[in-house]
Amino acid sequence: MTTRKYLLQFPEKAVGKPLIYHLAKDYDLMVNIFRAKIDPDDTGYMVLDISGTDENIKRAALFFKENGIIINEKMNGLTWDKERCVSCGNCITHCPSNALAITDRSTMEVSFNDEKCIECMNCISHCPFNACSSIFNNTK
Ligand code: SF4
Ligand code: SF4
Repeated sequence: MTTRKYLLQFPEKAVGKPLIYHLAKDYDLMVNIFRAKIDPDDTGYMVLDISGTDENIKRAALFFKENGIIINEKMNGLTWDKERCVSCGNCITHCPSNALAITDRSTMEVSFNDEKCIECMNCISHCPFNACSSIFNNTK
């Protein structure tokens, strides 16, 4: 069993399609949606985990591409700007998944683990230095 986290971008023509249904029924995948949004121009964004066999995940990725859905494995909805972060620690107690955490006690520097992020967006309102932002409240 493999789990992949994707940020998907849907063109207007793909927004109304029953994507999750197809992932479960046609590719036997388990899906955990963290956050989704459709913009006024009908572009859609979704961050989700997909779990299943490697083969079925590959087939699903092909299905996405055939339907014009852009897959981004390297980017989350949430962006953490390391240059802005001063490691004040204010966000840590508000991050439910420990995606933002102090992992090295010798430096006490805060780091971000995008694999752990569940896109709750708590950190955005709790960062005094605007180090956290999200595609889900930046896109118009
Ligand atoms: S969006 Fe939520 S889970 Fe992700 S880093 Fe921020 S507080 Fe943590
Ligand atoms: S609140 Fe902002 S500046 Fe402080 S540790 Fe978190 S991300 Fe860094």
